[in-house]
Amino acid sequence: MSSNDLQAQQQNLLNRYEQIKAKKLNLDLTRGKPATAQLALSDALDGILQGNYASADGTDARNYGGALGLPEARQFAADYLGAKPSQVLVGGNSSLQLMYQVVTNAYFHGVNAGAMAWKEEAGTAGKIKFLCPSPGYDRHFSICETLGIDMIPVSMDADGPDMDQVESLLRADPLIKGIWCVPKYANPNGVVYSDEVVDRFARLGKIAGPNFRIIWDNAYAEHHLVENPPELANLLALSEQYGTLDNAVVIGSTSKITFAGAGISFMASSESNIAGFVDLLGIATIGPDKVNQLRHMRFLKDMPTLRALMQAHREILQPKFELVLKHLEEGLAGKTHNGQPLGTWTRPAGGYFVLFDTQPGLADKVVKLCAGAGVKLTPAGSTWPYKKDPANSNIRLAPSFPSLSEIDEAMQVFVLCVELATLDQ
Ligand code: PMP
Repeated sequence: MSSNDLQAQQQNLLNRYEQIKAKKLNLDLTRGKPATAQLALSDALDGILQGNYASADGTDARNYGGALGLPEARQFAADYLGAKPSQVLVGGNSSLQLMYQVVTNAYFHGVNAGAMAWKEEAGTAGKIKFLCPSPGYDRHFSICETLGIDMIPVSMDADGPDMDQVESLLRADPLIKGIWCVPKYANPNGVVYSDEVVDRFARLGKIAGPNFRIIWDNAYAEHHLVENPPELANLLALSEQYGTLDNAVVIGSTSKITFAGAGISFMASSESNIAGFVDLLGIATIGPDKVNQLRHMRFLKDMPTLRALMQAHREILQPKFELVLKHLEEGLAGKTHNGQPLGTWTRPAGGYFVLFDTQPGLADKVVKLCAGAGVKLTPAGSTWPYKKDPANSNIRLAPSFPSLSEIDEAMQVFVLCVELATLDQ
């Protein structure tokens, strides 16, 4: 393109940008919240108990106790997580809280009663460390940051974290005590870990030792956007086979199945890990909200019922993802500047996010331009440890909450801002 053509194009984009600014839009593509219509799919939860508070084994769900969760909820969560009921704890409304407790327990008290606390292991030498496949989930990284656990980014490939890198880092540094994973439809890049990657994860404990924990946050296990979803290998079953079950902590919740703020969460690991967790949990609570657990069991019933509900979620979500992708494809596919594409993006088979990559160095500029035009995006860098994206190129798009017409408007702005930021370098 001649410099005159480039200038004319820039001016044209700027004019369009000013026109959009004048509309004073107020749109938000930041967080992966379910839309109101998705929440309404589970409105039958309210009142479902009809005065019958007895669980399958006769427990009165209204009373104190039952730290491990109701037996039918443990059975259900075991089916969901691919575990045995004896390996499962069902908790309150937040799986993030379970993960926070797993990490703080190990940090202050050790991974079990006989183990040295992680903070003691660091000694005067420094800090313990976590591996952070990146980009990843910002709230995982905040847990490490708040405890002063050093975070080491690990690169992500199309089939999961770079396992050569993970294994060599673990061999070299015994102060690495954990790794964060979202193994299916990863937040934010949609990656599903391959069978080989999961198998290598199941053997990590042999390298990293007994005080190492894999936090396997399977938050999007059933959250498909395609007809024939990919399968994820069962980390728990493989770990049991390799004798490393203590190293695996598998997590899930119904936050994006029923109510995001009032669902149930669950965790599976070795029976001894679960027992140790319950001991410490008992310091903080006399038991979980079993009434909510019971409501969920009467509503969700079994995996086929849950899968039918997830199909209804998909019917709401899929058009939103298609619309995001349509704008990216029509607005940006095939366009280049300085010989490089204006951007690349994921086409996830499930989960809640599309990950967009600008040319290096431009993500913060695009986010700022969008904000100036009334479209809020997740701050650039927030999907990386310490909020530092080394390439400054990742932008996480979360289309679940806004309406189709809001997405339509927001994505026009987004595409325009990508062009503007790139041409203006
Ligand atoms: N893990 C991941 C990967 C998530 O994306 C989210 C929600 N954005 C959570 C956990 C939070 O789950 P919960 O509501 O059960 O705390």
